Amino acid sequence: MESCRDLHGGSPLAERESANDKFDLIVVGGGMVGSALACATAEAGFKVCVLEMREPTRSWPEDEVDLRVSALTRASQRVLENLDVWERMKSLRISPYTDMEVWDEGGSGRIHFNAAEIGEANLGHIVENRVTQLALWERMESLDDVDLRYPARVSQLLLDGSQGVMLDDGSHLQAELIVAADGRDSQIRSMAGIDTKGWDYDQHAIVATITPEQHHGYVARQRFMKAGPLAFLPIDDGRCSIVWSTSPQEAEQLMAMDDAAFCHALGHASESMLGQIKAVGPRGVFPLRLGHAETYIRPGLALIGDAAHAIHPLAGQGVNLGFLDAATLADTVIEARKAQRAIGAFSTLRRYERARKGANMGMLAVMDAFKRAFSNEIPPLKLARNLGLTLADRSGPLKDLLIRRAMGLSGELPSLAKYQPHGN
Ligand SMILES: Cc1cc2nc3c(=O)[nH]c(=O)nc-3n(C[C@H](O)[C@H](O)[C@H](O)COP(=O)(O)OP(=O)(O)OC[C@H]3O[C@@H](n4cnc5c(N)ncnc54)[C@H](O)[C@@H]3O)c2cc1C
Repeated sequence: MESCRDLHGGSPLAERESANDKFDLIVVGGGMVGSALACATAEAGFKVCVLEMREPTRSWPEDEVDLRVSALTRASQRVLENLDVWERMKSLRISPYTDMEVWDEGGSGRIHFNAAEIGEANLGHIVENRVTQLALWERMESLDDVDLRYPARVSQLLLDGSQGVMLDDGSHLQAELIVAADGRDSQIRSMAGIDTKGWDYDQHAIVATITPEQHHGYVARQRFMKAGPLAFLPIDDGRCSIVWSTSPQEAEQLMAMDDAAFCHALGHASESMLGQIKAVGPRGVFPLRLGHAETYIRPGLALIGDAAHAIHPLAGQGVNLGFLDAATLADTVIEARKAQRAIGAFSTLRRYERARKGANMGMLAVMDAFKRAFSNEIPPLKLARNLGLTLADRSGPLKDLLIRRAMGLSGELPSLAKYQPHGN
């Protein structure tokens, strides 16, 4: 029909549009994990569309620390170095920590890890989520093969012959592989009818930036209490970002306190390990829930990051597992393309699921066991965990194993998480 033709001649408008709207991958969710996958696959020559609900924060006052921070492992650092974003993150702020100390409320169990013991300069970095997010977003903007669309909302997921998504604005985008990277409450996962197994932890996590009387000495500290763990994560200017997991009732009370009362309560809960708490910034609260998708894949669809697994923040592993998902899926599609196999085929995606689902499940189970063991006051269990921490602290090989695991350096690593001499 004439009205459908491009006035400048050439193909009908619908055909022209669909050529622009055909991709190798559509990544729904441009958070830290989805952005990492988009960068990795676009750099390997794939045509990628990223759909994101909102634009990330691009600037903030220099002395303000984001409420959301993550302890990034060495494996995540390598992923980010290999994606050429680590230097940009450094320029924004990353805070290394050299030691980690974990102990039990009212018990004698304690374990201390030190980077020098394993010949490393640090054990990892505390990084504001918005720093990682912005560096990856800017990298996506610099890549020709990433089509970044925001604000964008998916109205329909098509996993049949016309494989793709419909957007709220009526556009139809097609791709061989759709990736759900849209977080814990993933809309794409629900649209695909994939269930999650999990439960409420009956804990809320309060996050805030605090100024302690004493310098943290670059030590990440975690105290296990009956109601939940309390973490002090060191920021390079001497402040700490805290994650205080506790019962919903106590969280409500703590959130209702004025700053002076909150600082006092926090000083008490932390056994004044860094002296008094002199100041606290704005506070945020997050309900904690365990959720693991029953499957990570369907033909033409893969789940990564929190869309596949939501985990307790006590070991700071959530986004670190997500980066390994992204790196593994990137390896999977790159290998498939080299072997001329379809990237969205179930047999291709099985490799990704096999590599990640067991590993993530293991971490989820360990964190869950930790959470239960440390919330329990049954005397034999209390004794066992005290003994466990102390024995682990004294056993060189076990300690080495634990720390390598916490740094993300154990097990089979995807290429992006390995040291690459050409990286920064
Ligand atoms: C209190 C707390 C402390 C934590 N500390 C740590 C830590 O120290 N270390 C660690 O590794 N992890 C930590 N985590 C976990 C970590 O924050 C998450 O694992 C991580 O943010 C997951 O990243 P993601 O990209 O998968 O999902 P998200 O960060 O949830 O990103 C999802 C993205 O998708 C977008 N989106 C959502 N729905 C749609 C849609 N329908 N269409 C388009 N876009 C959409 C969102 O806007 C967002 O940008 C912590 C979590 C909490 C709650």
